[in-house]
Amino acid sequence: MDAFTLVVAAALASSIMAGSMGLLYLASSRQRSLVHWALAGIFFALNNSIAAYIIHGHDAGPMFAGLGNALHVAGQFGMLAGARRHLNLRPGWGWFAAVSTLVLAAHGLPYLSASPVHRLYLMTPVVVTINLATAWLLWRGSEREARPAYLPLIVLELLSGLQMAMRCAAMAANDGHAPAFLGGQFLLTTGALSMLVFLSVGTMGCALIVTQQQTLALRRASLTDVLTGWLNRRALHDIATREFRRCRRTDTPACFLTFDIDHFKSINDRYGHGVGDAAIRHVTTLSARVLRGYDALFRTGGEEFAVLLTGGTVDDVGHIAERLREAISQSPLHAQGQAVAMTVSVGVAALEAGDHKWEDILRRADEALYHAKQHGRNRVSVYGRDVVARAAGQRLQLVGK
Ligand code: GH3
Ligand code: MG
Ligand code: MG
Repeated sequence: MDAFTLVVAAALASSIMAGSMGLLYLASSRQRSLVHWALAGIFFALNNSIAAYIIHGHDAGPMFAGLGNALHVAGQFGMLAGARRHLNLRPGWGWFAAVSTLVLAAHGLPYLSASPVHRLYLMTPVVVTINLATAWLLWRGSEREARPAYLPLIVLELLSGLQMAMRCAAMAANDGHAPAFLGGQFLLTTGALSMLVFLSVGTMGCALIVTQQQTLALRRASLTDVLTGWLNRRALHDIATREFRRCRRTDTPACFLTFDIDHFKSINDRYGHGVGDAAIRHVTTLSARVLRGYDALFRTGGEEFAVLLTGGTVDDVGHIAERLREAISQSPLHAQGQAVAMTVSVGVAALEAGDHKWEDILRRADEALYHAKQHGRNRVSVYGRDVVARAAGQRLQLVGK
């Protein structure tokens, strides 16, 4: 295939990229990164159209070639801007404007207007820097769980930078003359070929990242309680099953801490459901501050919560529970110009040798919570310390303090 056909194909692939990103944006996700990647496709399409025009025999001068190169830089920046937007960073188009203008202005210099090889020497460090920045950003910014979806784009950006550097090195090693192969059109043919690959894999890579993000967001939403942001019952089953097995295997202590807001119905009755909701959020916010970052926090019912704590003894967790109870009782919610005081009752239970499933621990923690309710509320009860079962199958014995 001659260089002209390849460049026209690259222009088409760029348009397909722009169209796919635009349609994906409109069709479902409304993810802003897609807009930047669509812009990248448009810039690449313009860049390749200019290249096709020049190859076709229209010598429009170095500034026209400069415009093509500035558009190529803009396309590469579009890829970077999309990656930045995807990771919730500012896209950074200001940098693009500055660098593209510099690239364009530099084409007025006699050194650059003299030869396309000199222009390649200018473009290579610029493009390679953008490629490396994009790859690094995607690697650093992606969560480990989602990384496989990022790999095609990361590898593509690295290969793009590498091929550019190698083309530049091949020309420099040959005293600025094109190597003899590829029909004397080494620069154009390799450039257009790599562009074709870049655009095809790039379109797929961008779509993959966006789809993966949507899948993760849906999964998170299905496991998260909307009001508090804590995990829901479905997540409790998955996480507790996994942690129960792990703790059993590694002989790691594990505890459940459950708590329930005291007399919550009266808060709803007195201040309304809206304040009730705010009260639930207030309690979870205060609790999260006391609990450790790696504890798993669940909203198991309306104003009922469970926390799975691993690695600490039942005494450690008893102290944490006491701090949690104290923090809530000392920090009323301010709503409707009033201080809405709240307290919670807390139950704690630890993993025991005879447990067959995580539900066994949770059941004991609930029994301890029931004990705390029965003994005046606003208190912590620990199973085994405040509550003991006489024997299997017999009624729970409550040892009140
Ligand atoms: P106790 O001290 O025995 O726990 O008394 P209580 O009044 O807190 O009783 P209970 O725990 O049974 O109260 C649960 C109430 O929580 C009943 C329900 O109307 C309310 N509720 C459940 N979910 C929500 C919610 O999402 N928002 C609001 N505002 N209220 C809720
Ligand atoms: Mg309650
Ligand atoms: Mg309740």
